[in-house]
Amino acid sequence: MRKYVIAGNWKMNKIVAESVTLAQEIVEVAKNISKVEIVISPTYLATAKVADAVKGSNVKVAVQDVHFEDQGAYTGKVSVDMVKELGVEYVIVGHSEQRQYFGETNETVNKKVKKVLEAGLKPIICIGETLDERNAGKLEDVLSAQINGAYANISNTDALKTIIAYEPVWAIGTGVVATESQAQEAHVIVRSFLKKLYGSSVADSITIQYGGSMNASNAGGLLQQNDIDGGLIGGASLQAESFIAIVEAAEKIA
Ligand code: PEP
Repeated sequence: MRKYVIAGNWKMNKIVAESVTLAQEIVEVAKNISKVEIVISPTYLATAKVADAVKGSNVKVAVQDVHFEDQGAYTGKVSVDMVKELGVEYVIVGHSEQRQYFGETNETVNKKVKKVLEAGLKPIICIGETLDERNAGKLEDVLSAQINGAYANISNTDALKTIIAYEPVWAIGTGVVATESQAQEAHVIVRSFLKKLYGSSVADSITIQYGGSMNASNAGGLLQQNDIDGGLIGGASLQAESFIAIVEAAEKIA
């Protein structure tokens, strides 16, 4: 049985005080939610205070990236131990913005996934094709390379602790959402690659989120698709109202 997971990626938005307020608003509504895992991912600076604000609630905290080394001369970077100490449970790994702007590769994604799992945290592994790749008929090749790369030398037991976020790059932050059938079709492809690596029972247990301009109006239709088990939400996670509407849509379907 797969768990619905709705995660808000706040990216480089909100100062600490604003982050705490938003977290508190989400905690209030989360009291009525029992079937959906709710995750929020503030900036590193707000992580400690947001983790305090959600303590004792059913809202979990993620960070938006980590380094794959334990410590050392890596200016600007943060290790898994540092975030674990704050009460973080999830780590977003391989977001397309990391891949596009900061040199993230399938190899560094794999190193990070291993480190996150070693620390007892859960990676949300982001994959997805660009518009050029989709138009060139390379959807399956891209997803296969990203999945095989991310999961290299990851055991069945560890694979079960992961979440995948399928995020077509052309839909992220653009307001252009994948249609329900485009998204479902890609999720089936993703699950078929997981089946090749781990067999049906593991593949059928891994939560695959959709990400890319998901909002309060389109969430219900997307989340009703058989292989869409949640969402990774950017823009619409920055206001309590729209994020909560997505969480409530998932709760109805779950
Ligand atoms: C994201 O950045 O993961 C994302 C899905 O953003 P948005 O919802 O704004 O498209």
